[in-house]
Amino acid sequence: MLWAAALLVIVLTLAYRRASLPLSCCVLGLLLAAYWVLGTAPEWWKATLTVPYALLILLNVRPLRLRLVTRPFLRSYRRLLPSMSATEREALDAGTVWWDGELFTGGPDWQKLMSAKAPTLNEAEQAFLDGPCEDLCAMLDDWDITHVRADLPPEVWSFIKSNGFFAMIIPKRYGGLEFSAYAHSCVLAKIASRSGTASSTIAVPNSLGPAELLLHYGTDAQKNHFLPRLARGEEVPCFALTGPRAGSDAASIPDTGVICKGRWQGADIIGIKLNFSKRYITLAPIATVVGLAFRLFDPERLMGGVEDLGITCALIPRDTPGVSIGRRHFPLNVAFQNGPIQGVDVFVPIDAIIGGFAMAGQGWRMLVEQLSVGRCISLPSNATGGAQAAVYASAAYARIRRQFNMPIGRFEGVEQVLARMAARTYIMDAARSVTAGAIDGGEKPSVPSAMLKYHSTEFGRMIANDAMDVHGGKGICLGPNNYLGRGYQIVPVAITVEGANILTRSLIIFGQGAVRCHPFVLREMNAARNPDHDAGALEFDRALMGHVGFAISNAARSAILGLTLARFTRVPQTGATARYFQHVNRYSASFALATDVAMLALGGYLKKKETLSARLGDVLSAMYLASMVLKHHENQGRLPEDLPLVEWACRSLLYQAQEQLHLFLRNFPNRPLAAFMRLLIFPRGLTYFPPSDRLGRDIADLIMHPTAARERLSRDIYKTQESHNPVGLLQEALVLSTMAESLEKRIRVDGIKTGRIGALDLPGQISEALHIGILSEAEAAVLRDYDAKVSKLLAVDDFAPQELGAGRAG
Ligand SMILES: Cc1cc2nc3c(=O)[nH]c(=O)nc-3n(C[C@H](O)[C@H](O)[C@H](O)COP(=O)(O)OP(=O)(O)OC[C@H]3O[C@@H](n4cnc5c(N)ncnc54)[C@H](O)[C@@H]3O)c2cc1C
Repeated sequence: MLWAAALLVIVLTLAYRRASLPLSCCVLGLLLAAYWVLGTAPEWWKATLTVPYALLILLNVRPLRLRLVTRPFLRSYRRLLPSMSATEREALDAGTVWWDGELFTGGPDWQKLMSAKAPTLNEAEQAFLDGPCEDLCAMLDDWDITHVRADLPPEVWSFIKSNGFFAMIIPKRYGGLEFSAYAHSCVLAKIASRSGTASSTIAVPNSLGPAELLLHYGTDAQKNHFLPRLARGEEVPCFALTGPRAGSDAASIPDTGVICKGRWQGADIIGIKLNFSKRYITLAPIATVVGLAFRLFDPERLMGGVEDLGITCALIPRDTPGVSIGRRHFPLNVAFQNGPIQGVDVFVPIDAIIGGFAMAGQGWRMLVEQLSVGRCISLPSNATGGAQAAVYASAAYARIRRQFNMPIGRFEGVEQVLARMAARTYIMDAARSVTAGAIDGGEKPSVPSAMLKYHSTEFGRMIANDAMDVHGGKGICLGPNNYLGRGYQIVPVAITVEGANILTRSLIIFGQGAVRCHPFVLREMNAARNPDHDAGALEFDRALMGHVGFAISNAARSAILGLTLARFTRVPQTGATARYFQHVNRYSASFALATDVAMLALGGYLKKKETLSARLGDVLSAMYLASMVLKHHENQGRLPEDLPLVEWACRSLLYQAQEQLHLFLRNFPNRPLAAFMRLLIFPRGLTYFPPSDRLGRDIADLIMHPTAARERLSRDIYKTQESHNPVGLLQEALVLSTMAESLEKRIRVDGIKTGRIGALDLPGQISEALHIGILSEAEAAVLRDYDAKVSKLLAVDDFAPQELGAGRAG
């Protein structure tokens, strides 16, 4: 027994510490030698034990290992390896691997994350936020935009163009603002807190589109021509990929460009004849230049290369003959410009291709590469700005709106809703700002971009629903006084664009992550595809040996961390947050184990088992988001006041990680393997709990008072106190509410309960309280002022019948 226990401890320690094969052989050799000398077991048993040890030793001899293990395995592996198109390979190669890669290791190196620079704004960026961005927010009247005009007013359009809102990513040498990713994100968040129409309009030219593509792939002539014009707002761009037959499966676009001879500006040239039908294209109705994705063919080999060149991106001026553009879609009452574009036999020169003919067929790679940055910014920032405004407004509203003689926010049911809104907003803010910081540090994080896109928009949807519930009828009745309705309506747009969410969760997050971020899988795949079979086998051998050790180590780590609840793992912080780091360590090991077993057992079939893949993606996302929360808390100076938000966020995320792992195991098709994994992943069962009600109450309290934590949580939004900004006015009322509540209490206790005051409404009660001396003149004035402000904020709009419906006056 003692020897068996010693063997178990030594094997687990070697595996946990990721000891190399030679070192493991030495240590096990010493143990075996000691057993031979000191052990009391019969000789035949000792000899039996020597056999597996000898095999282990032989594994160290590479030529032998290559011949007996690696090459036979590689042959089967090649047969099983799903074929991959160049397009898919390009998608996989796009972007960089960042913190997501660490989470795949089973033992993340926290120093890498914690030592990253906190995102900051430079002077010019701060001045832009405080100047033009504030001014733009003040100009925006979302009811006028969405209901009356179904467009931004002309003065807003010209303000946007002339102040460079469309040029945040364009370098200064071309006349752009050249903002950091973080500044870009803050600008979008602020505008989104005011108007979804304006923020979507501004997001598009700064995201994946002509400017971004030109910057990275354009020829000098194209850059010099278009970028200054785009920066000045003289050109309005759109980017057209989606069509009636190609939505989520965008690489299947049937739109064609055929290289042929034709006439262009009076001369005979070799150009491209385009036929296409696109829809849902943002800014298309007013765009002057269309970035177009199509499949390029050269049937007559006029350019001397292959016939099917592949997906290509070109810039097509709006007024090119054959282009039909200008009609509008109407996306859920949000009035940003969006519409279809068709082209019939549109002839353009070859140099319309972004990057010239050298980039023909490179369109898909260009798109996926740039998506890895753009997807981290536009939608996550818009969703975060919307969420910050929703929680800021809802908490104040819950304080000033009374029912049953209490602010509704004091009821436990509402309290818990406010708490989850706030904590989710904290997660969104943490994820988008820390990831933007990483982009500014040179990363192009493709897997995090999918996680951010998916979770920010999903949290945005939950927060929009919660805000509606907290506001009741006030959120439902549209009109100039409704500050929630349009934000609620725009949610499905964010869910659908830049990779629809079901697809992103089911196919992309884990599917791309498993190959891209796993320390060995991509190396193995590349080695297996190496046409030089000898070099491929050597590389495959190195990766395979690493992979086997990695899998054994993660099994051991998972079991040990599961048994100890990761209490003894090293983390970068002590105190209240230390345990969350430790739990991420634990789930990282379990996740790495589950990933390897799933890939080994299911192979290519895992791609079809979308729900399993989605759940593993959820675990990865939960760890990623929890890490972002911890880093964000650190970046903000580890303020104790924010701890309830940090704790709620981490607890709910890590609980999700546990639940999704549990559901993954419950649904894993190979039941014995599932049972084996469960033993290693949950040796003590499901021990992690979601946030407590008490924590929820603390958060609700934090945001229903004018605290610094409340301000930090909603730091990006437009909250200026002016008569057209309900968010600012709600804050004003919230500040007054502390004093008003104590006066109202006096009226209730000294007046109503004693029967000295009989009025049913507050204005009447104030008059009576003044009359009988419960309130002084000054106190009555304060309370009347507060009541008037609150009544205005609680008001909803109504309309004469003719103001609504088809015949309404504009
Ligand atoms: C308002 C708006 C603005 C847009 N702006 C632009 C733009 O500027 N330029 C542009 O090119 N495009 C734009 N789009 C298009 C957008 O990117 C597409 O709508 C999106 O790719 C989804 O395509 P689809 O709407 O055809 O849905 P479908 O592809 O038909 O998908 C429907 C549902 O099926 C799910 N689904 C599909 N395949 C899978 C799968 N394999 N596994 C799991 N689920 C799956 C999707 O997640 C989705 O929920 C815009 C769309 C909208 C609505």
